[in-house]
Amino acid sequence: MKERTLSIIKPDGVLRNLIGEVIKRIEGRDMTIKALKMIRMTKDQARGFYAVHAGKPFFESVTDFMSSGPCVVMVLEGEDVIKRYRELMGATNYKDAAEGTIRREFAVDIEKNIVHGSDSPETAQFEISYFFNALELPK
Ligand code: ATP
Ligand code: MG
Repeated sequence: MKERTLSIIKPDGVLRNLIGEVIKRIEGRDMTIKALKMIRMTKDQARGFYAVHAGKPFFESVTDFMSSGPCVVMVLEGEDVIKRYRELMGATNYKDAAEGTIRREFAVDIEKNIVHGSDSPETAQFEISYFFNALELPK
């Protein structure tokens, strides 16, 4: 089934000049970039984005990190893209990530792990509408 997911190149990925590297990997697969922009979240906006993690031990730290610099946010579309993009990213902890994944190749920290991807259709819908309006992302 054709679906959409939200991808973020996190502040560490932008700082380390990995925007092109991540986009190249996305475009090398059967998935299309439907929308793309660079944003910088405030601490409160990062809290809103990661609201599902509120109360977890890493919540303060990860929301500080996500608001520490610019991110590139993208909407990807394709068959089964939510799962396939998460496979491309690799496991949350780069140490557990499979060979050849973005996190395995580039991440050096469990928190600063280069990329984000939605984890379900419901999350994808919330996350896409968090960043993109109807002008930026036609139906
Ligand atoms: P993301 O939601 O960013 O795509 P994920 O779905 O693989 O990552 P989540 O469990 O949703 O992982 O965690 C969200 C983010 O919080 C992680 O990507 C990472 O930056 C940070 N994080 C998660 N677990 C930890 C942890 N144990 N210690 C530090 N940071 C963590
Ligand atoms: Mg997640």
